[in-house]
Amino acid sequence: MQRNKRPAVTLYSLINRNVLPSLCVSSRIGLSSPALLYNAETSLYSDIAAEHAVQPVHCVLVDESQFLTREQVKALSDVVDDLDIPVLCYGLRTDFRGELFVGSQYLLAWADKLVELKTICHCGRKASMVLRLDSEGKPFSEGEQVVIGGNERYISVCRKHYKQAIEQGSLQAIHGAQTPLN
Ligand SMILES: [Zn+2]
Repeated sequence: MQRNKRPAVTLYSLINRNVLPSLCVSSRIGLSSPALLYNAETSLYSDIAAEHAVQPVHCVLVDESQFLTREQVKALSDVVDDLDIPVLCYGLRTDFRGELFVGSQYLLAWADKLVELKTICHCGRKASMVLRLDSEGKPFSEGEQVVIGGNERYISVCRKHYKQAIEQGSLQAIHGAQTPLN
């Protein structure tokens, strides 16, 4: 970018600092922009309004938006309605227990538009659930919603195989994928 020349699109990316503890400057779609970190205490409206006053913000991208609070989702709707800046939020719908994240709950309720990014289960069905596996690879569906720096793994599966894995307490349903399960 040349000096004193503004980019055509100014992105304001918000990255959840619980998930990504360092500053990120490039997005997955190849655009580069300063990324600011947020947590549950960040006042998103005043932060974005202040940034917008310095240099027009054309778009706000929020990653890991499932971690937004109810107040922050409301604040982002004010950014859209009062500052006239589009806000795009990317996040998960449900946690490994099959419960809505708070951020996702209010985004589902208040967003103008919902776009489902499809992931496929091993069986070919839409993967709408997330299984949490412990350090031994056993699925479990209880405990804290957010664990940072643990040894768990997460895999995306369809609802049917989520239920089977939880009921069996193992990944047999997933490993036995070659044999169709009815
Ligand atoms: Zn499946």
